[in-house]
Amino acid sequence: MRDDIVIVGGGQAALSCAARLREGGHQGAVVMIGAEPWLPYQRPPLSKAYLLGKTEAGRLGLRAPEFFDTQRIAVRTGTRVHRIDRAGRAVELADGERLEYGRLVLATGSRARTLPETVSGGLDGVFTLRGIDDAERLRAALADAGRVLVVGGGYIGLEVAAIAAQTGRAVTVVEQTDRLLRRVACAQTASAVGALHGAHGVDVRTGASLARLMGDGSRVRAAVLDDGSTVAADLVLVGIGGIANDDLAAAAGLAVDGGILVDASCRTSDPAIFAAGDCAVFPFAGRRVRLESVQNAVDQGIAVADALLGRDVAYAPVPWFWSDQYDAKLQSVGLALDYDRVIPVAAARAGGWAFWYFRAGTAVAVDTINDARTHMAARRLFASGAALSPDHLLSSQFDLMQYVRADARAAS
Ligand SMILES: Cc1cc2nc3c(=O)[nH]c(=O)nc-3n(C[C@H](O)[C@H](O)[C@H](O)COP(=O)(O)OP(=O)(O)OC[C@H]3O[C@@H](n4cnc5c(N)ncnc54)[C@H](O)[C@@H]3O)c2cc1C
Repeated sequence: MRDDIVIVGGGQAALSCAARLREGGHQGAVVMIGAEPWLPYQRPPLSKAYLLGKTEAGRLGLRAPEFFDTQRIAVRTGTRVHRIDRAGRAVELADGERLEYGRLVLATGSRARTLPETVSGGLDGVFTLRGIDDAERLRAALADAGRVLVVGGGYIGLEVAAIAAQTGRAVTVVEQTDRLLRRVACAQTASAVGALHGAHGVDVRTGASLARLMGDGSRVRAAVLDDGSTVAADLVLVGIGGIANDDLAAAAGLAVDGGILVDASCRTSDPAIFAAGDCAVFPFAGRRVRLESVQNAVDQGIAVADALLGRDVAYAPVPWFWSDQYDAKLQSVGLALDYDRVIPVAAARAGGWAFWYFRAGTAVAVDTINDARTHMAARRLFASGAALSPDHLLSSQFDLMQYVRADARAAS
């Protein structure tokens, strides 16, 4: 029993951890318990190709069902873990069944923040987007919607706005802060993304808060903003951020603070329990960070498995992310926090841009729009730890790829 590893969650981080445990030669049982009725699947297409009707739910699986058998990973889908009994080293399922563990991994993800009932009015036609079920409902409703309101100017809201606009809906985006992507990107990136939406006819209103939704019977028909103006809408997508699923951990007495607190080896305040993915808050670059990205779920799942396999782990990722809107691919590398300068650089490909973030004279992140070459080079740059200054970037002779290659040669 001591060798058995139970993973709570059936998503990207859970799968990554389970697969790595087997790759690394773990011999004991590996059990994944996921509340959703599906084997691990990709969420990113839910706000992109799936919503556009270009892919179906059956094609979103991260691994074929046989993978789990051949790797001896026992997956319990449609099963919720109700409680952790730390003293007894067991988890209790919603139906009362107990499963003992040697070590436990929490990969419970995050959930979409919802509007308070006083604002949403409990009306039909109001959606959040997190899982396949949400996406199915949203896709069906979009087919009948003429006027779409997106609440929140973050990535998920903007991706849905793009799909709705591309498929002929009149779209309004309301964002309560002074610009789009406030939490994740600089003003220059936000302005480029805003221009993209403007060019597709989306009415982007920043500095505008939703006061309440109004219905005609039980269905949403309009939104009242805090300046008293109204926006007609027969479908509302709420994209106002995610909340870490840390309730199970908190109820078990583990340290949480906006997510499950882990150390650099991804261990929680209980040495037998680890956490990875959207639910975990970890030390990074001198602060505590929680990331909602495929990169983090995959890499942190691997880091947890490595720690479980007895390897030395100091999780220090190169964070990266992407978003597809219209024909633009937005990509970011690094953490766009506490920067003091942003330098825009036009890409070799017409229309492409890179926005480099600097802190105290060193590049810390870069957003690119239709500039995959710079994105990939920047991933290598940040992974190598080489410093890039504004002087490098602004020199007319500077070639990022050459710089990265030269640094790799110097290091070898
Ligand atoms: C619509 C959408 C678009 C996205 N697009 C991008 C993108 O373009 N690029 C990118 O990098 N990232 C994107 N992301 C984010 C990315 O998908 C997530 O960061 C990633 O899926 C996190 O993986 P995870 O395993 O931590 O959590 P999840 O994938 O959320 O998995 C957690 C699982 O745990 C289950 N669970 C929770 N509590 C319990 C319990 N008590 N018992 C049993 N099971 C439980 C949940 O039901 C869930 O199935 C997107 C996310 C969404 C929702």
